[in-house]
Amino acid sequence: MLGLMMAEPLRVATIIEHAAKWHSDTEIVSRLPEGGIHRYTYADANRRAKQLAQALHRLGIENGDRVGTLAWNTHRHFELYYGVAGIGAVCHTINPRLFPEQLVYIINHAEDRLLFFDLTFLPLVERLAPVCPTVEKWVLMAGPEHLPKQSALPGLCSYEDLLAAEDGHYEWPSFDENTACSLCYTSGTTDQPKGVLYSHRSTLLHALGISLPDSLGCSALDVIMPVVPMFHVNAWGLPYAAPLNGAKLVLPGAGMDSASLYELMETEGVTFSAGVPTIWLALLQFMREGHRKFSTLRRTVVGGSSCPPALMKAFVDELNVTITHAWGMTETSPLGTASRLKANQLTLPADEKAAILTKQGRVVFGVDMKIVGDDGQELPHDGEAFGDLLVRGPWVVRDYFRAPTPGEMTADGWFRTGDVATIAPDGFMQITDRSKDVIKSGGEWISSIDLENLAVAHPAVAEAAVIGVPSAKWSERPLLVVVRRPGLDVSKEEMLAFFRGKVARFSEPDAVEFVDALPHTATGKILKTQLRKDFAGYSVA
Ligand code: ADP
Repeated sequence: MLGLMMAEPLRVATIIEHAAKWHSDTEIVSRLPEGGIHRYTYADANRRAKQLAQALHRLGIENGDRVGTLAWNTHRHFELYYGVAGIGAVCHTINPRLFPEQLVYIINHAEDRLLFFDLTFLPLVERLAPVCPTVEKWVLMAGPEHLPKQSALPGLCSYEDLLAAEDGHYEWPSFDENTACSLCYTSGTTDQPKGVLYSHRSTLLHALGISLPDSLGCSALDVIMPVVPMFHVNAWGLPYAAPLNGAKLVLPGAGMDSASLYELMETEGVTFSAGVPTIWLALLQFMREGHRKFSTLRRTVVGGSSCPPALMKAFVDELNVTITHAWGMTETSPLGTASRLKANQLTLPADEKAAILTKQGRVVFGVDMKIVGDDGQELPHDGEAFGDLLVRGPWVVRDYFRAPTPGEMTADGWFRTGDVATIAPDGFMQITDRSKDVIKSGGEWISSIDLENLAVAHPAVAEAAVIGVPSAKWSERPLLVVVRRPGLDVSKEEMLAFFRGKVARFSEPDAVEFVDALPHTATGKILKTQLRKDFAGYSVA
């Protein structure tokens, strides 16, 4: 027997419609790539998203068509999220930091019909256009005054002209909640980029999931600034969760440097932010240099790669800002786990609580996880046994978009994350490594993340990475690669001695090398594949 409740399909347009109706004067503030600050309300955003929807219909965009974006976090990108998905088309956010060959691959693979881009990317799209034949029209996300005098870009027009031709009188259509809504390719750290195709249902459930108090937690009292880009897993869902909760949204545009971020946080009263560790490490340094304080920022979510405990401690002690450590991937929308204490942990000594919070955390309702050994058998939740982390749930990928081979699924329907983890009896999961980064030393597994976290706790270390290098005796041993802080010195011997007594003897790095900079992926993670190439042929005694 079926229930007798209204069968309203879950659709993302209902989020902006809700915000426009019930939080009509709550603001969205953006720093524009072409200069200046833009400020308007959710009611304005909904009206403009509807103008965009009308324009897309006029251009012949239909259900399921892909519309690409190469854009920063701005109100126009926000309108694209809703305007494109709202008509049943797919908003394909593209990471402009990828190599041009990868961009070409992604645009052609997705067969984007329109491509919206920020002024910053004009030179880039001029190079891409001749090799992206599916794109019928290129739209500059700015006013007509910014259009180049001459351009060979097919159908080039300005976003503002496109909208100005429409009146915004439009009803968001209803359709099946499993309709595709947005598309995001993994950054291809290890392989060719793979497309993850989110549905309206998965996106809306994820937005509710991240709003929960023990998850990222969002409220109408928050002023939310996603520093994670809108081209990276939908800015972790915050452009959906903010209007869903009626929170003010602050979008930092192309200004991802510490000074610009800090200025915007202070002038707009940001209370809550989110981004990868690299951003916060740089911001911490900036705050220390100027003896600065945050007047409104209270918490931030850090994920995408392991958050060093030293960073979490510094934020609380020096800046009175809590870091919530979270884990996820493009394939999980992205939220999988968040590290928030349970009631029975509140009375633990401070150092034990801090140790729990440095883990990647516990699952949010909507995600289930387990760890398995090489034989596929489930491993105990004892905080010791480590194995492949598998997840499942309504916002976890089932298959990649137009993939020649099936996704990373087990026969019984779990997704293989490619991460190696432990799960403690209290349910807290800890990533020990990506399976490809684990160092296998004579039968023992050494976690590169543990060593990196320790290394960055040294005052002279700005950034650190650990990779396995060949060893005749142990097959692999850890090599520590360090970027020193400007003006601070530390010798190789001092660096190695820093690990003594802090990790098991066999886990201590055997060697250390100093470099000027580490290679990073398009999403700010350390590119270990490159580092392994850089140190190919290196071996330890
Ligand atoms: P890719 O780097 O392949 O583009 P994602 O950006 O989706 O993919 O990154 C997902 C991966 O990032 C995870 O599988 C995991 O290895 C790593 N990761 C994400 N969050 C954390 C975290 N809090 N701690 C450690 N690793 C993390």
